[in-house]
Formats: sequence, C-alpha cells, structure tokens
Amino acid sequence: MNRRKFLVTSTLALGVTALGGVYWKTRWRYIVIHHSAGSHGTIELLQEVHRQRQAGDPVDAIPYHYVIGNGNGLGLGEVASDWRQRFDIWGAHVSGNNSGRNFLGIGICLVGNLEEKALPPKQFQALVELTRKMMSKYGIPPENVAGHGKIDGEATKCPGRYFPFEELERAIS
Ligand SMILES: [Zn+2]
Repeated sequence: MNRRKFLVTSTLALGVTALGGVYWKTRWRYIVIHHSAGSHGTIELLQEVHRQRQAGDPVDAIPYHYVIGNGNGLGLGEVASDWRQRFDIWGAHVSGNNSGRNFLGIGICLVGNLEEKALPPKQFQALVELTRKMMSKYGIPPENVAGHGKIDGEATKCPGRYFPFEELERAIS
C-alpha cells in the first residue's frame, strides 16, 4: 500500500467511525477565499508548494478544496480539485490560530496574484457560481464567507488588495 492509499484509507476509517459518515460529508460551515500569489497554477504546482511550506502535513494534497484557474496552467475560470475535496478532508489553508476554519471551512484558491492584478471577470464569475453552490448545498450563510486575511488571527494580505469584496458580497447575498 503506498503512502497516499494508506492515508486515504486511514483518514476515511477515522472519519467514518469517529464522526459518522453523514456528519463528515455535511459538516462544512465556512468558505475561505484565497489567491495563489503566483502568476500561474495547476494542481501539481500547488501541491509542490504545499509540500515545501507545510512539510509536516500528513495529507499530501493541495491545501485547498478548490482551485479556480486564470488561464495560465488551468483554464480561465476552470475549477479543479484533488482528493482532499473528494474525501471531504479538512483543509490546510488557514493558520493554526483558526483550526476550526480548516476543519469546517471549504478553501477556494484563485490562481493569480491579486496584490498586483485585478481578477478577470470570468474567474470571478466561476468563484461566484462555486461559492453559491457550496452555500446552498451546505446551508452556509453569507457572513460565513470570508477572504483569508479578513479572519481574526490571520496575518496575511490574501486574497490580495484587488480582490472585489463588495462585488462578491452583492453576488452572494
Ligand atoms: Zn490564503
């Protein structure tokens, strides 16, 4: 059994026995929005960055549940995910100060550096659609949708100064 299979199997076993399958699949209460801070991105690249930055994480996957491409690596507005999302595993997208947001928060990462550039409309539209879908699927209220740096205890500019918070608020309320 390879490392990944072992982790998937043991994580699933833990999830199913300790928490109950239904709870595990429906526990999501928050959505946290990030940018990748890089000009291009794919699942493989984000996984590589995660391996380097959080070498201790036993979940060898991207830290987010969804990635939305900017046309550079992934298509513009293309939504991608890996086995973290498939098995509803907790995220690794906020700091230890907010472990609840990692455990109960769906992490969405926009490829691109929104400290430097505006978000392309098509990528924003994909974010709105995905966010609304998650909100209705799990009953997440608009006030539980936040940009990474807007959460108390997080010291980051993520998802960047050009992230259109007001437009998003309008689009999801
Ligand atoms: Zn972030």
